[in-house]
Amino acid sequence: MAGFKKSPWIIHYDASSCNGCDIETLACLTPLYDVERLGVVNTGNPKHADIFLVTGAVNEQSREVIRNIYHQLPEPKVVVAVGVCASSGGIFRECYNVAGGVDSVIPVDVYVPGCAARPEAIIDGVVRALEVLEAKHAEMSALAGSIDKILYQRADKSDAPEILALQKIAYQTEIELYGDDSLPALQQTLEDLENDFERRPQREATVLGAPTPPAHPVDESDRVIFLKAVINGKIVGSIRGFAVEDTAYLSRLMVHPYFRRRGIGRKLLTAIEKEFPQVRRFEAKTGHQSKRNHFQLLSLGYQQYKTEPYNAAITWVYFQKFQNPSDPAVRGENRPVLNLA
Ligand code: SF4
Repeated sequence: MAGFKKSPWIIHYDASSCNGCDIETLACLTPLYDVERLGVVNTGNPKHADIFLVTGAVNEQSREVIRNIYHQLPEPKVVVAVGVCASSGGIFRECYNVAGGVDSVIPVDVYVPGCAARPEAIIDGVVRALEVLEAKHAEMSALAGSIDKILYQRADKSDAPEILALQKIAYQTEIELYGDDSLPALQQTLEDLENDFERRPQREATVLGAPTPPAHPVDESDRVIFLKAVINGKIVGSIRGFAVEDTAYLSRLMVHPYFRRRGIGRKLLTAIEKEFPQVRRFEAKTGHQSKRNHFQLLSLGYQQYKTEPYNAAITWVYFQKFQNPSDPAVRGENRPVLNLA
C-alpha cells in the first residue's frame, strides 16, 4: 500500500469535456503545481493505473469507452469525477445526447466540484482518492486473508441492496465481452430484485422456458432461493434458483472480480444444487462467449443442450445436468433435441 500512497498512477479520460477541466487537469503537471514531484504519474495504460480520473459528461460515444477503461484497471481502483459535468452532467445535463455524470455508467468514489475544477481542487480530489484506495485495499486484503473462512448461506430480502451492487460489478465483465449492456442482470432494479425474494420472477421463467408462475397464489415452492458467499460479513458471490416440477432453474451466478479463480463460483453452484434434492434435473444458461462459465458448468457435469438467440450480440447457451447419473436422459433417451445453430 505504501507504493500506492507514495506514487499513485492516474489515467485521465475526457468523456466529452469542453476542455476547461482537461486544461486544469494538465495544469497539475506543469511546473507551477508539478504533481510528479510528489510521485503522481499520469499513465496512458489503464492496466497500470490506480485512479481513473474523468472529465466531462457522458454521451453515447464515451459511455462504452468509460466502461472499457474502468474494466481494465486492476482492483482495487478509485474513480474521480472532475468538474460538474463529470459529476452530474452539469450545464449539458438536459442535452439530447448526454446521459449524465460518470456515475450513470460506473461507480464514482470522489467528486471534484467546479466549472472548471481548479488544479488545487483536483489535487485535493486525488488525495481523497488515495484515502479511498487505502481503505479499499485494506478491506480487500482482510477479505483475501479470510478466503478459507467463506460462508455459503441463504440470503434474504435485506441482502438485496448488496447483491444488486455485486451484480452490477460482476456483470461488467459481460459488457466487456459482448459490448452490450442490455443484459437483464444489468437492467434489474432494487425493487425488482426484492420482488424476486417474494416469488419466482416472471422474467426468468420466460427466459428459461419454465412454466409461467401463477398470478397470485404464492407458496414456498414458488419462491426463489438465493445463496450468498460471505467473507467477513461482506457478500462476494451469489447465485439464485427456483424449482418447477422436475427441474431447478439456476441463474445469476456471480463472484466479485477480485475473488474470482478461487473456487467460489463452483462452491456456490454445488451448494444451490443441494437446495433442490427433489428435482430430476438442473438447468442453467449463460452467454455464448462466457467461456469461463461454460468451463465451470462442464466441469461440474453439466451438458450443453440448446442455444437460443437473445439479441444481435448475445446467444444464450443452455446447460443441463441430471441429478441421478443413471437417469435415462443422461444416456440420450428423452433428451431435448440439440439446437446448436
Ligand atoms: S465543468 Fe465546466 S469546464 Fe469542466 S468540462 Fe464542464 S463546462 Fe467545461
